[in-house]
Parts: sequence; C-alpha cells; structure tokens
Amino acid sequence: MTVSIHPAVDHGLPVAAPGFSGGKLHCRCPDNKVEVTLHAQTAHNHVCGCTKCWKPEGANFSMVAVVPRDSLEVTANADKLQPVDPNAAIIRYACKQCGTHMYGRIENTSHPFYGLDFVHTELSDETGWSPPEFAAFVSSIIESGFPPERMGEVRSRLKELGLEPYDCLSPPLMDLIASHTAKQKAQAAAA
Ligand SMILES: [Zn+2]
Ligand SMILES: [Zn+2]
Repeated sequence: MTVSIHPAVDHGLPVAAPGFSGGKLHCRCPDNKVEVTLHAQTAHNHVCGCTKCWKPEGANFSMVAVVPRDSLEVTANADKLQPVDPNAAIIRYACKQCGTHMYGRIENTSHPFYGLDFVHTELSDETGWSPPEFAAFVSSIIESGFPPERMGEVRSRLKELGLEPYDCLSPPLMDLIASHTAKQKAQAAAA
C-alpha cells in the first residue's frame, strides 16, 4: 500500500484557481463552527512533518500555508478559540471543542516570518487555494511514531507527487531566515 502523506495530496495535488482571492475556513464541530475568513490567496503552502502543526486524524503530515496577518479575520465563534501554547514562537489557536487548529500567529516582531499567519486550507469548502510546493521537516515524522525504516518510501512518494522532501524548510525559506538573521546581526553591530 502506498504510504499516506495527507488526504489533500494522496490522490494528486490540488490546483490553484487563477484570480483566487480567499475564502472561509471552518473547524470540525458539527455546529457553532469557528469561522476564519481569509481575504487573500495563500502562499508557501507545503506539507510539514513537524510535531507542532495540526494534522488530520491518520495523516503523517500536516498541510500548512501562510497569509498576511491583516488578511485573516475570525468571523464566527471566536470565543471557542484558545492558544495551544501561548509561549510558542508560532501561537496556534485551536477550537476548544474539536481541537482543530484554525490559525497560527507570530507576535515576536523580530521573527523572520512576523506578519504572516499559518493556516490549513483543507478546512475550506472552496477549491482554488495554492497547492503545496514542497515537504518540510520530513524526518520529524519519526518523532510522531513513524517507522524510520519506511522513510525511503515516504521520500519517494513525496518526489512522485512533486513535493521535494527537505528535513528543514525549503532552500528559499531557509535563505530568507538566514538573510533576516544576517541583517539583524549587522544592525546590532552598527548600533
Ligand atoms: Zn470546533
Ligand atoms: Zn510543521
């Protein structure tokens, strides 16, 4: 049996709709759902193997993308949201009732990804969101109990789907983080 990556990609990658400009995300409660409205198309969508990102039941990876924080609005049942870990770099807000992570936000203004919120577009009924482009933190799925001897299968499947596997973030995002760090060091040295 082919190893499952994530239900949204196991049968091929979703396709972005031209001109797509956002939509609504809902938690998995049967009623009184938390609703998050995104007023923008997502960027940098990817599957992630880390232990912190929210994954649907049975998935080995999460699927996570970003939007500018001013494009995200909680539009219903905001009182059901609570931070998973208020001290984490990315504060993930989950529904108290069903546990679904609705968005992740960075409050540290010197963080390289400050200004971007993390979202899971599988929580939307709309199609046309940007598809995942790569696989991040692939080796970390072992920390969630995945058998290390099957990692070859996982990496081949990811490549077959067109999701290049990385054990950190993709090179462009790693370059962005390093550039940000270099800039901060230069500023500190000049101060
Ligand atoms: Zn819920
Ligand atoms: Zn992750």
